[in-house]
Amino acid sequence: MTERLDGHTLLIGLMATPIRHSLSPTMHNEAFAKLGLDYAYLAFEVGNKELADAVQGLRALGIRGSNVSMPNKQAIIPYLDELSPAAELVGAVNTVTNLDGKGHLVGHVTDGTGAMRALKEEDVEIKNQIVTMTGAGGAGTAIAIQAALDGVKELRIFNIKDQQFKAAEETVEKINSKTDCKATLTDLSDQGAFKQSISESSIYIDATGCGMKPLEDVSLITDPEVIRPDLVIFDVVYIPKETKLLKFAKENGAKKTINGLGMMLYQGAEAFKLFTGEEMPVDYIKELLFKD
Ligand code: NAD
Repeated sequence: MTERLDGHTLLIGLMATPIRHSLSPTMHNEAFAKLGLDYAYLAFEVGNKELADAVQGLRALGIRGSNVSMPNKQAIIPYLDELSPAAELVGAVNTVTNLDGKGHLVGHVTDGTGAMRALKEEDVEIKNQIVTMTGAGGAGTAIAIQAALDGVKELRIFNIKDQQFKAAEETVEKINSKTDCKATLTDLSDQGAFKQSISESSIYIDATGCGMKPLEDVSLITDPEVIRPDLVIFDVVYIPKETKLLKFAKENGAKKTINGLGMMLYQGAEAFKLFTGEEMPVDYIKELLFKD
């Protein structure tokens, strides 16, 4: 690694808090090394309070780009110069580019396309399907909008009545007005409607973070009757690799259960392309990071 770093090395950042657990620095640095690209990727513990200064730092230091995660995905938008069409629609950013270090910062979102590619790699067809999903926060919104843009027929979102519910209403409105997908939003406490919706769906997506700390003991599906062999179950969580939901689904006969590792890999690969113009060597990275 050290012989790669010299006076020409370009820096890519990651701004979030907490962030020390992230796989992104290893993923990007290993990919740079594999391709012999003169870049380094470092994580910075940055919250909303430090964000304005940190973004100025990107400009001042000619940092070539940065990934952005919680709690900065929406908060960063006012500090940027431009948004990609998808980031504009989602209202969140997970990748910022600073092309040639010239200080013109463009916000992109790769979570939704990353999730769709992860499903495709598992041979899951989303076009013309009915999809039920829980969670319409940062990740859920990006997935919902991309799924609608990519041809899902009906998207039925269930969310608890928390502060996210209002934003979920806006997401549904956007999808219905700007895409051919029919989207609905229902309170997750209506368990009858939730089960009925899944019974009519071919894919269930959990984008809530249930199954991950501190909600590691939570699965939003607890009735074995809801699980069918032909129901694809996709949980965006990747730590642990098998959430309570995925374990329950497998035990009750689901044939295809997918965790968040693929989404993590492909959202990173797309960001890598935006930063460097090169394709991430995904098979190599998968082997390195995701082996059991
Ligand atoms: P967020 O806080 O923006 O959204 C969380 C959503 O879950 C909201 O809709 C909220 O209403 C809902 N929710 C929260 N607690 C709930 C509960 N107890 N029961 C039912 N619903 C509940 O979070 P986010 O940024 O969207 O992240 C969600 C998850 O997605 C996290 O686990 C994160 O690690 C994961 N994620 C994975 C990837 C990936 O690449 N695999 C990328 C981004 C996020």
